[in-house]
Amino acid sequence: MIFTELALNGRILIVDDAMENIQILHRALQDEHEVLFALDGAKALALAHSQHPDLILLDAVMPGMDGYAVMQALRAAPETADTPVIFVTALVSPEDETRALDAGAADFIGKPVNAAVVRARVRTQLTVKRQADALRALTLTDSLTGVANRRAFSERIDTEWRRAVRTGLPMSLILADIDHFKMYNDHYGHQAGDAGLSQAAHAMSRAANRAQDLVARYGGEEFAILLPETDVAGAACVARRVLDELAALGIVHAVSPTAPLLTTSMGIASLVPERSETSASLIRAADALLYQAKDEGRNRYCLA
Ligand code: GH3
Ligand code: MG
Ligand code: MG
Repeated sequence: MIFTELALNGRILIVDDAMENIQILHRALQDEHEVLFALDGAKALALAHSQHPDLILLDAVMPGMDGYAVMQALRAAPETADTPVIFVTALVSPEDETRALDAGAADFIGKPVNAAVVRARVRTQLTVKRQADALRALTLTDSLTGVANRRAFSERIDTEWRRAVRTGLPMSLILADIDHFKMYNDHYGHQAGDAGLSQAAHAMSRAANRAQDLVARYGGEEFAILLPETDVAGAACVARRVLDELAALGIVHAVSPTAPLLTTSMGIASLVPERSETSASLIRAADALLYQAKDEGRNRYCLA
């Protein structure tokens, strides 16, 4: 159901060393799509990285870097590895076609191109890409709260860890655990508990509002807030906002020994990642500080 309603206009990158070929493809696609073009492989790779096209139409035979080399470079970089490529080429033997498909091409169009065929093949690839993107988004989302799930968190923390090793910038992690949530469930029922979790997740999302911040459901009533390029002072600021946002929601928790409202405890770990370590060290540190926050009375954060 959700797949049939996806819009099919996309951003298409056309790569060909002959301007007249680019013009033919451009004419075929311009009414339905945003069209970018490159006259050589290096420009194609630069545009693929900076403009994130949904689909690339790639000429196989070009002077210098040919289509196969461009394809290999696209596949080697994580940001472009999943961008579908249709080979467009005058080489139409079964061997050529097999070689293109083996290289990872999604489809193959022979020259001279027919505009209607190009449009149809492009539409098909965009549909496949939209479906793959939608499925991937589903596999990375927690269905109860709508925030990222643990799988998404695990992927992101490792990516961010590697990035921080390169940049030498600090990163922070807040682990949050809702206080006395078993009592909340026992007193108000599981459905109210679910609603409370969802509201808490949204409060955390409002508190961590930079584009690169990630709020994820880590487990039952535990959340992780990943803050790339953020030092301990910045993370403490976010944790403060989490406490404030949650208090502002005013979710009544009449049986909590800590406060008359739903509250959370948090552990904040912050470090400049070392190549010799893994992200597990950051998680361990945040977890230990979360337990300290519980011990010291809950509804608070602890940092090293
Ligand atoms: P503490 O302050 O020490 O964290 O106490 P707590 O009761 O929050 O901790 P505990 O780990 O004992 O209990 C966690 C509870 O969270 C138990 C479980 O019923 C509840 N919980 C976990 N996942 C969900 C969920 O998806 N929905 C609901 N409604 N409750 C959940
Ligand atoms: Mg817990
Ligand atoms: Mg808890």
